[in-house]
Amino acid sequence: MAEATRPAIPFFDYRPEYRRLKGEFDAAIARVLASGRLILGPEVRAFEDEFAQFVGVSHGIGVNSGTDALALALRSLDIGHGDEVITVANAGAPPVAAIRSVGAVPRFTDVLDGTWVMDPGGLDTLLTDRTRCILPVHLYGRPAPLGAILAFAERHGLAVVEDCAQAHGARYDERHVGTFGRIGCFSFYPTKNLGAFGDGGICLTDDPATADRLRALRMYGFGQDRHAHVEGVNTRLDEVQAAILRVKLAHFDESQKRRHEIAARYRQGLASTGLGLPPDCPEGQTHGYHLFVLSTTSREDTARRLEAARIGYGIHYENPVHRMEAYSFLGLPGGSLPVTETACASVLSLPLFPDLSAADVDSVIDCLASVR
Ligand SMILES: *Cc1c(COP(=O)(O)O)cnc(C)c1O
Repeated sequence: MAEATRPAIPFFDYRPEYRRLKGEFDAAIARVLASGRLILGPEVRAFEDEFAQFVGVSHGIGVNSGTDALALALRSLDIGHGDEVITVANAGAPPVAAIRSVGAVPRFTDVLDGTWVMDPGGLDTLLTDRTRCILPVHLYGRPAPLGAILAFAERHGLAVVEDCAQAHGARYDERHVGTFGRIGCFSFYPTKNLGAFGDGGICLTDDPATADRLRALRMYGFGQDRHAHVEGVNTRLDEVQAAILRVKLAHFDESQKRRHEIAARYRQGLASTGLGLPPDCPEGQTHGYHLFVLSTTSREDTARRLEAARIGYGIHYENPVHRMEAYSFLGLPGGSLPVTETACASVLSLPLFPDLSAADVDSVIDCLASVR
Protein backbone atom coordinates (compact mmCIF):
# COMPACT_ATOMS: atom_id res chain seq x y z
CA MET A 1 0.00 0.00 0.00
CA ALA A 2 2.66 2.46 1.09
CA GLU A 3 4.61 1.66 -2.08
CA ALA A 4 1.66 2.66 -4.25
CA THR A 5 1.12 6.02 -2.56
CA ARG A 6 4.74 7.07 -2.15
CA PRO A 7 5.78 9.36 -4.99
CA ALA A 8 8.11 7.80 -7.55
CA ILE A 9 9.84 11.17 -7.72
CA PRO A 10 9.61 13.03 -4.41
CA PHE A 11 9.26 16.81 -4.21
CA PHE A 12 12.06 16.79 -1.64
CA ASP A 13 14.09 14.09 0.09
CA TYR A 14 17.13 14.74 2.29
CA ARG A 15 18.07 11.06 2.49
CA PRO A 16 20.11 10.71 -0.74
CA GLU A 17 22.34 13.54 0.49
CA TYR A 18 22.56 11.94 3.93
CA ARG A 19 23.62 8.63 2.38
CA ARG A 20 26.15 10.36 0.11
CA LEU A 21 27.81 12.28 2.96
CA LYS A 22 26.98 9.88 5.79
CA GLY A 23 30.57 9.59 7.05
CA GLU A 24 30.87 13.36 7.48
CA PHE A 25 27.45 13.82 9.09
CA ASP A 26 27.87 10.94 11.50
CA ALA A 27 31.33 12.15 12.52
CA ALA A 28 30.02 15.69 13.12
CA ILE A 29 27.14 14.46 15.30
CA ALA A 30 29.42 12.09 17.24
CA ARG A 31 31.93 14.91 17.82
CA VAL A 32 29.23 17.06 19.45
CA LEU A 33 27.82 14.27 21.60
CA ALA A 34 31.32 13.42 22.85
CA SER A 35 32.16 17.08 23.56
CA GLY A 36 29.91 17.69 26.57
CA ARG A 37 28.62 20.94 25.01
CA LEU A 38 25.14 20.92 23.45
CA ILE A 39 24.07 24.59 23.53
CA LEU A 40 26.01 27.71 22.43
CA GLY A 41 29.39 26.04 22.23
CA PRO A 42 32.24 25.92 19.72
CA GLU A 43 30.21 24.46 16.82
CA VAL A 44 27.67 27.29 16.87
CA ARG A 45 30.40 29.91 17.11
CA ALA A 46 32.36 28.32 14.26
CA PHE A 47 29.29 27.99 12.07
CA GLU A 48 28.20 31.58 12.75
CA ASP A 49 31.62 32.79 11.63
CA GLU A 50 31.83 30.48 8.63
CA PHE A 51 28.37 31.34 7.35
CA ALA A 52 28.82 35.09 7.94
CA GLN A 53 32.11 34.96 6.07
CA PHE A 54 30.57 32.95 3.25
CA VAL A 55 27.79 35.51 2.78
CA GLY A 56 30.16 38.43 3.28
CA VAL A 57 29.18 40.07 6.59
CA SER A 58 30.99 40.44 9.91
CA HIS A 59 28.55 38.90 12.40
CA GLY A 60 26.26 35.86 12.57
CA ILE A 61 23.84 35.11 15.42
CA GLY A 62 22.40 31.59 15.29
CA VAL A 63 18.78 31.17 16.36
CA ASN A 64 16.13 28.47 16.45
CA SER A 65 14.40 29.13 13.12
CA GLY A 66 14.06 31.53 10.22
CA THR A 67 10.85 32.91 11.73
CA ASP A 68 12.70 33.56 15.00
CA ALA A 69 15.51 35.26 13.05
CA LEU A 70 12.98 37.70 11.58
CA ALA A 71 11.28 38.28 14.93
CA LEU A 72 14.60 38.82 16.73
CA ALA A 73 15.74 41.22 14.01
CA LEU A 74 12.59 43.31 14.46
CA ARG A 75 12.92 43.18 18.26
CA SER A 76 16.54 44.33 18.03
CA LEU A 77 15.35 47.39 16.09
CA ASP A 78 12.84 48.16 18.87
CA ILE A 79 9.93 47.56 16.54
CA GLY A 80 6.84 46.78 18.58
CA HIS A 81 3.24 47.61 19.33
CA GLY A 82 1.59 49.81 16.76
CA ASP A 83 4.62 50.01 14.50
CA GLU A 84 4.12 49.06 10.87
CA VAL A 85 6.31 46.78 8.80
CA ILE A 86 5.89 46.58 5.03
CA THR A 87 6.20 43.14 3.47
CA VAL A 88 4.50 40.88 0.90
CA ALA A 89 1.52 38.53 1.26
CA ASN A 90 2.61 35.68 -1.05
CA ALA A 91 5.43 34.25 1.08
CA GLY A 92 3.36 32.16 3.46
CA ALA A 93 2.76 32.97 7.10
CA PRO A 94 6.31 33.24 8.57
CA PRO A 95 7.15 36.90 7.85
CA VAL A 96 3.75 37.97 9.15
CA ALA A 97 3.98 35.68 12.20
CA ALA A 98 7.34 37.31 13.00
CA ILE A 99 5.92 40.83 12.63
CA ARG A 100 2.93 40.00 14.84
CA SER A 101 5.11 38.31 17.47
CA VAL A 102 6.63 41.70 18.35
CA GLY A 103 3.20 43.35 18.28
CA ALA A 104 3.72 45.23 15.02
CA VAL A 105 1.28 45.39 12.11
CA PRO A 106 2.05 44.07 8.61
CA ARG A 107 1.26 46.23 5.58
CA PHE A 108 1.48 44.60 2.17
CA THR A 109 2.75 45.78 -1.18
CA ASP A 110 1.58 43.84 -4.19
CA VAL A 111 4.23 41.82 -6.06
CA LEU A 112 5.70 42.10 -9.55
CA ASP A 113 4.01 40.03 -12.22
CA GLY A 114 6.21 37.06 -13.21
CA THR A 115 8.97 37.39 -10.59
CA TRP A 116 6.52 37.53 -7.67
CA VAL A 117 8.79 39.68 -5.49
CA MET A 118 7.99 43.00 -3.77
CA ASP A 119 6.77 45.77 -6.08
CA PRO A 120 8.67 48.84 -4.85
CA GLY A 121 6.15 51.01 -6.69
CA GLY A 122 3.64 50.09 -3.97
CA LEU A 123 5.71 51.41 -1.07
CA ASP A 124 4.69 55.04 -1.29
CA THR A 125 0.97 54.53 -0.68
CA LEU A 126 1.68 52.37 2.41
CA LEU A 127 3.86 54.92 4.14
CA THR A 128 2.43 56.29 7.41
CA ASP A 129 3.98 57.90 10.48
CA ARG A 130 4.03 54.42 12.08
CA THR A 131 6.07 52.78 9.29
CA ARG A 132 9.38 51.55 10.70
CA CYS A 133 10.73 48.83 8.49
CA ILE A 134 10.60 47.17 5.06
CA LEU A 135 10.85 43.39 5.03
CA PRO A 136 11.34 42.17 1.44
CA VAL A 137 11.34 38.43 0.72
CA HIS A 138 13.73 36.96 -1.84
CA LEU A 139 11.01 34.54 -2.84
CA TYR A 140 11.96 31.17 -4.39
CA GLY A 141 15.58 32.43 -4.40
CA ARG A 142 14.85 35.41 -6.65
CA PRO A 143 16.39 38.62 -5.28
CA ALA A 144 13.81 41.32 -4.56
CA PRO A 145 14.50 44.70 -6.26
CA LEU A 146 16.83 45.86 -3.50
CA GLY A 147 18.05 49.01 -5.27
CA ALA A 148 14.63 50.65 -5.26
CA ILE A 149 13.71 49.26 -1.83
CA LEU A 150 16.90 50.50 -0.16
CA ALA A 151 16.60 53.92 -1.80
CA PHE A 152 13.02 54.28 -0.55
CA ALA A 153 14.02 53.12 2.95
CA GLU A 154 16.87 55.58 3.09
CA ARG A 155 14.70 58.45 1.91
CA HIS A 156 12.18 57.79 4.68
CA GLY A 157 14.50 56.65 7.49
CA LEU A 158 13.24 53.05 7.53
CA ALA A 159 15.21 49.92 8.42
CA VAL A 160 15.40 47.06 5.92
CA VAL A 161 15.34 43.47 7.18
CA GLU A 162 15.86 40.92 4.40
CA ASP A 163 14.00 37.60 4.47
CA CYS A 164 16.61 35.31 2.88
CA ALA A 165 14.97 32.06 4.05
CA GLN A 166 14.68 30.90 0.42
CA ALA A 167 17.73 32.66 -0.93
CA HIS A 168 21.00 31.11 0.31
CA GLY A 169 23.42 31.61 -2.57
CA ALA A 170 21.36 34.31 -4.33
CA ARG A 171 23.19 37.48 -5.36
CA TYR A 172 22.23 41.04 -6.22
CA ASP A 173 24.82 43.41 -7.70
CA GLU A 174 27.25 40.47 -7.44
CA ARG A 175 26.86 40.42 -3.62
CA HIS A 176 25.00 37.82 -1.58
CA VAL A 177 21.53 38.80 -0.46
CA GLY A 178 21.45 39.30 3.29
CA THR A 179 24.27 41.88 3.07
CA PHE A 180 22.10 44.80 1.95
CA GLY A 181 19.63 45.43 4.76
CA ARG A 182 20.45 46.24 8.36
CA ILE A 183 19.91 42.54 9.16
CA GLY A 184 19.72 39.51 6.85
CA CYS A 185 17.67 36.57 8.13
CA PHE A 186 18.11 32.98 6.96
CA SER A 187 16.30 29.74 7.78
CA PHE A 188 17.93 26.31 7.98
CA TYR A 189 14.64 24.42 7.87
CA PRO A 190 15.45 21.03 6.30
CA THR A 191 14.05 21.82 2.84
CA LYS A 192 15.95 25.10 2.42
CA ASN A 193 19.07 25.40 0.25
CA LEU A 194 21.17 25.08 3.39
CA GLY A 195 19.08 22.81 5.57
CA ALA A 196 19.72 21.35 9.01
CA PHE A 197 18.34 18.00 10.22
CA GLY A 198 15.89 19.98 12.31
CA ASP A 199 15.11 23.65 12.89
CA GLY A 200 17.58 26.50 12.71
CA GLY A 201 18.10 30.07 11.56
CA ILE A 202 20.53 32.97 11.68
CA CYS A 203 20.65 36.78 11.73
CA LEU A 204 23.52 38.39 9.84
CA THR A 205 24.67 41.96 10.25
CA ASP A 206 27.70 44.17 9.66
CA ASP A 207 26.88 46.47 12.56
CA PRO A 208 28.68 45.42 15.77
CA ALA A 209 26.15 47.11 18.08
CA THR A 210 23.24 45.34 16.34
CA ALA A 211 25.15 42.05 16.61
CA ASP A 212 25.66 42.53 20.37
CA ARG A 213 22.00 43.33 20.81
CA LEU A 214 20.87 40.29 18.80
CA ARG A 215 23.20 38.07 20.83
CA ALA A 216 21.76 39.35 24.10
CA LEU A 217 18.14 39.18 22.92
CA ARG A 218 18.40 35.54 21.79
CA MET A 219 19.07 34.52 25.41
CA TYR A 220 16.81 36.46 27.81
CA GLY A 221 18.57 39.76 27.18
CA PHE A 222 21.55 38.54 29.19
CA GLY A 223 24.93 40.23 29.16
CA GLN A 224 28.14 38.43 30.19
CA ASP A 225 26.94 38.85 33.80
CA ARG A 226 23.79 36.72 33.17
CA HIS A 227 21.69 39.71 34.13
CA ALA A 228 18.81 40.71 31.83
CA HIS A 229 19.60 44.21 30.62
CA VAL A 230 16.88 44.17 27.99
CA GLU A 231 13.81 41.95 27.70
CA GLY A 232 14.82 39.02 25.54
CA VAL A 233 13.57 35.63 24.45
CA ASN A 234 15.10 32.18 24.18
CA THR A 235 15.94 31.21 20.61
CA ARG A 236 19.20 29.37 20.01
CA LEU A 237 20.80 27.24 17.34
CA ASP A 238 22.06 24.04 18.97
CA GLU A 239 25.47 22.41 18.66
CA VAL A 240 24.27 19.32 16.77
CA GLN A 241 22.51 21.36 14.08
CA ALA A 242 25.48 23.74 13.81
CA ALA A 243 27.87 20.82 13.29
CA ILE A 244 25.58 19.39 10.59
CA LEU A 245 25.32 22.81 8.93
CA ARG A 246 29.12 23.11 8.87
CA VAL A 247 29.25 19.88 6.83
CA LYS A 248 26.58 21.19 4.45
CA LEU A 249 28.21 24.60 4.09
CA ALA A 250 31.45 22.92 2.98
CA HIS A 251 29.45 21.33 0.12
CA PHE A 252 27.18 24.29 -0.55
CA ASP A 253 28.75 25.48 -3.81
CA GLU A 254 28.42 22.01 -5.37
CA SER A 255 24.80 21.76 -4.30
CA GLN A 256 23.99 25.21 -5.74
CA LYS A 257 25.66 24.19 -8.99
CA ARG A 258 23.35 21.14 -9.11
CA ARG A 259 20.30 23.34 -8.46
CA HIS A 260 21.29 25.57 -11.38
CA GLU A 261 21.83 22.56 -13.67
CA ILE A 262 18.41 21.17 -12.78
CA ALA A 263 16.76 24.56 -13.31
CA ALA A 264 18.46 24.93 -16.71
CA ARG A 265 17.30 21.44 -17.71
CA TYR A 266 13.71 22.24 -16.71
CA ARG A 267 13.89 25.57 -18.51
CA GLN A 268 15.06 23.97 -21.73
CA GLY A 269 12.77 20.94 -21.53
CA LEU A 270 9.66 22.93 -20.71
CA ALA A 271 10.26 25.87 -23.06
CA SER A 272 7.67 24.79 -25.63
CA THR A 273 4.98 23.67 -23.18
CA GLY A 274 3.27 27.01 -22.76
CA LEU A 275 3.74 26.75 -18.99
CA GLY A 276 5.01 30.01 -17.42
CA LEU A 277 8.68 29.54 -16.48
CA PRO A 278 10.53 31.59 -13.86
CA PRO A 279 12.22 34.48 -15.69
CA ASP A 280 16.02 34.62 -15.76
CA CYS A 281 17.72 37.08 -13.44
CA PRO A 282 19.14 40.24 -14.98
CA GLU A 283 22.91 40.70 -15.38
CA GLY A 284 24.69 40.93 -12.04
CA GLN A 285 22.07 38.89 -10.17
CA THR A 286 22.09 35.18 -9.35
CA HIS A 287 18.95 33.19 -8.65
CA GLY A 288 19.20 30.94 -5.59
CA TYR A 289 16.86 28.36 -7.16
CA HIS A 290 15.34 27.27 -3.90
CA LEU A 291 12.21 26.45 -5.89
CA PHE A 292 11.46 26.07 -9.59
CA VAL A 293 8.04 27.65 -9.83
CA LEU A 294 5.78 27.41 -12.86
CA SER A 295 2.79 29.64 -13.32
CA THR A 296 -0.16 28.32 -15.25
CA THR A 297 -3.85 29.01 -15.59
CA SER A 298 -4.30 25.23 -15.81
CA ARG A 299 -2.79 24.37 -12.44
CA GLU A 300 -5.43 21.73 -11.68
CA ASP A 301 -4.64 19.81 -14.87
CA THR A 302 -0.90 20.13 -14.33
CA ALA A 303 -1.20 18.90 -10.76
CA ARG A 304 -3.40 15.95 -11.77
CA ARG A 305 -0.94 14.93 -14.44
CA LEU A 306 1.95 15.00 -11.95
CA GLU A 307 -0.09 13.03 -9.43
CA ALA A 308 -0.91 10.37 -12.03
CA ALA A 309 2.83 9.98 -12.70
CA ARG A 310 3.52 9.91 -8.92
CA ILE A 311 5.65 13.03 -9.14
CA GLY A 312 5.74 15.26 -6.06
CA TYR A 313 4.99 18.96 -6.39
CA GLY A 314 4.34 21.91 -4.11
CA ILE A 315 2.24 25.08 -4.12
CA HIS A 316 4.06 28.06 -2.63
CA TYR A 317 1.69 29.37 -1.53
CA GLU A 318 -1.92 28.61 -2.10
CA ASN A 319 -3.29 31.13 0.40
CA PRO A 320 -2.11 34.71 0.38
CA VAL A 321 -1.62 35.60 4.00
CA HIS A 322 -4.07 38.54 3.97
CA ARG A 323 -6.82 36.03 3.07
CA MET A 324 -6.03 33.64 5.95
CA GLU A 325 -8.60 33.56 8.72
CA ALA A 326 -6.17 34.59 11.47
CA TYR A 327 -5.45 37.83 9.64
CA SER A 328 -9.00 38.84 8.82
CA PHE A 329 -8.58 41.67 11.36
CA LEU A 330 -6.33 43.38 8.82
CA GLY A 331 -9.49 44.01 6.83
CA LEU A 332 -8.10 43.24 3.37
CA PRO A 333 -10.82 41.73 1.16
CA GLY A 334 -10.18 39.54 -1.89
CA GLY A 335 -8.96 41.73 -4.74
CA SER A 336 -6.87 44.02 -2.48
CA LEU A 337 -3.62 42.60 -3.86
CA PRO A 338 -4.51 41.46 -7.39
CA VAL A 339 -1.08 40.29 -8.59
CA THR A 340 -0.45 38.45 -5.30
CA GLU A 341 -3.80 36.72 -5.57
CA THR A 342 -3.22 35.75 -9.22
CA ALA A 343 0.20 34.38 -8.28
CA CYS A 344 -1.22 32.27 -5.46
CA ALA A 345 -3.83 30.85 -7.83
CA SER A 346 -1.36 29.94 -10.57
CA VAL A 347 1.98 28.86 -9.06
CA LEU A 348 3.20 25.26 -8.90
CA SER A 349 6.67 24.13 -7.77
CA LEU A 350 8.48 21.19 -9.38
CA PRO A 351 10.87 18.84 -7.56
CA LEU A 352 14.24 20.57 -7.09
CA PHE A 353 16.94 19.37 -4.73
CA PRO A 354 20.62 18.69 -5.40
CA ASP A 355 20.35 14.90 -5.39
CA LEU A 356 17.48 14.79 -7.88
CA SER A 357 18.85 12.83 -10.85
CA ALA A 358 18.88 14.08 -14.45
CA ALA A 359 16.71 11.06 -15.35
CA ASP A 360 14.12 12.15 -12.78
CA VAL A 361 14.19 15.71 -14.11
CA ASP A 362 13.59 14.30 -17.60
CA SER A 363 10.66 12.24 -16.33
CA VAL A 364 9.08 15.40 -14.90
CA ILE A 365 9.64 17.17 -18.22
CA ASP A 366 8.15 14.25 -20.20
CA CYS A 367 5.14 14.23 -17.93
CA LEU A 368 4.46 17.92 -18.57
CA ALA A 369 5.54 18.15 -22.19
CA SER A 370 2.02 17.86 -23.53
CA VAL A 371 0.24 20.09 -20.98
CA ARG A 372 -1.10 23.30 -22.42
C1 LIG B 1 10.90 28.98 5.51
C2 LIG B 1 10.63 30.42 5.49
C3 LIG B 1 10.67 31.22 6.65
C4 LIG B 1 10.76 30.67 8.02
O1 LIG B 1 11.73 29.77 8.28
P1 LIG B 1 11.51 28.70 9.46
O2 LIG B 1 12.91 28.26 9.74
O3 LIG B 1 10.65 27.61 8.91
O4 LIG B 1 10.89 29.40 10.61
C5 LIG B 1 10.53 32.58 6.51
N1 LIG B 1 10.30 33.15 5.32
C6 LIG B 1 10.23 32.43 4.20
C7 LIG B 1 10.00 33.13 2.90
C8 LIG B 1 10.38 31.04 4.24
O5 LIG B 1 10.29 30.33 3.11
